[in-house]
This record gives sequence, C-alpha cells and structure tokens, in this order.
Amino acid sequence: MYNPPPAYVTGSVEFYNLKIEVNSSTLIPRLESELLVEHALKRISKKEAIVLDLCCGSGALGLALKGARRDLHLILADISPDCVAMTKKNAKSNGLAVEVREGNLLEVLKEGEEIDFMICNPPYVTTSEYETLDPSVRLFEPKLALVGGDDGLFFYREIEKRLSTVLRKGGKAFFEIGKDLGEGIKKIFNNPLWCDQELLQDYASLDRFFIVARSEITL
Ligand code: GLN
Repeated sequence: MYNPPPAYVTGSVEFYNLKIEVNSSTLIPRLESELLVEHALKRISKKEAIVLDLCCGSGALGLALKGARRDLHLILADISPDCVAMTKKNAKSNGLAVEVREGNLLEVLKEGEEIDFMICNPPYVTTSEYETLDPSVRLFEPKLALVGGDDGLFFYREIEKRLSTVLRKGGKAFFEIGKDLGEGIKKIFNNPLWCDQELLQDYASLDRFFIVARSEITL
C-alpha cells in the first residue's frame, strides 16, 4: 500500500507565492519549476507582452508569471478539460485575470494569432523511465502529464514544428526538460529559425531548462 502524495491529500501546494489547487488530473507543481518562472521573468522585459503557458496543468507556471507581472497577457492552455477547469479555478482563487483555452498544443492559437513568449512544461518522461518512477508518482499522478514518448522528446518536436510561425521574432520560449534531454532538445532547435540557446540546471545541478529565441529569419 502506498500513500498518495501529501498535495493530493491536502488538495493544494504553495507555488511562487500562490496557492495552487491540484487533483489527480493535474501534475503536482515541482519546486524546481519555480526556477523556470524566475528565468522567464528575468528575460521578459516587454510591457504587456502576450505569454502562452502551453500544457498548463494546474496553471502554476502561467499564473505565477501573471502574479509577478500584472501587465502581461497570459493565455494558459491544456488538452485536458480537467486541467482547464482547475486552471480557471486557480486563476479565480488567486485573483488573476488570464485566458484559459482547451486544445491540442499550438492549435489553441487562432488563425494569425501571435505570441511574444511561451512557457511550457510538457510531459517529458520516457516510456521506459516511466516504469521506474517512484510509486508515489506512478500510482497517483496522471500518466498523460508525464510521458513524452520513447525518447521523451515527442512534445518538443511537435511544438517546434509550429512555434516559429506563432512566436514573434526576438521572442523566447522557456521549456522545462528531463535531465537527459539537453542534447536532444538542442538538436531539435538547431536550425536557422532559432538562436541564443541556453541550457540551465536545477537545484540538483541536472539539466532542467532550455531557453531559445526566435531569430529574425523567415523561411
Ligand atoms: N518533473 C516531473 C517528474 O519528476 C515530470 C514533469 C513532466 O513530465 N513534465 O516526474
């Protein structure tokens, strides 16, 4: 018998000064994801920028950005209706005005709609890694939010295919990644549409974040 993670028992966690409600449909926001919020805030200087939180889950990342920078326009999106509902609930309880959309990856953007920045913590655990995850994660947290295909890179590849058409030139994308995915994600973004790659580490000195800028090139 394994006990559920405390966050599912109490129903919420503290994340970047916000109280974020979670349930078994949403991944529990991890402490290290606060670092991604910090990295993004340091690099978003444009006032009233449009920021998309893709694969928003409970809404933690996007809501944290909005909480820290009220001038930003936040769109948060997820394919799971339960996550969309939870993000709306968390936006309301924290008094944050954001837009929440349901849909598959970048298809949530309307025809011709552009964004200045994107923050994204997609499922990135590999199929084989999933079997070795701690039972406290594997037995209780949503598989849909965790597994990113056989090499963990499925969602980054899918997102890169379309991202250059919606991210404004000079805009940046902030990703959380699995600890072994640094080289793989660098390769995905190794084409002239992208520049200024940064691979950053978490508290355990493991590769955990990847930041990339949209170059001035149009193909
Ligand atoms: N960091 C999570 C874990 O340790 C995985 C999050 C994700 O796949 N986006 O299980």
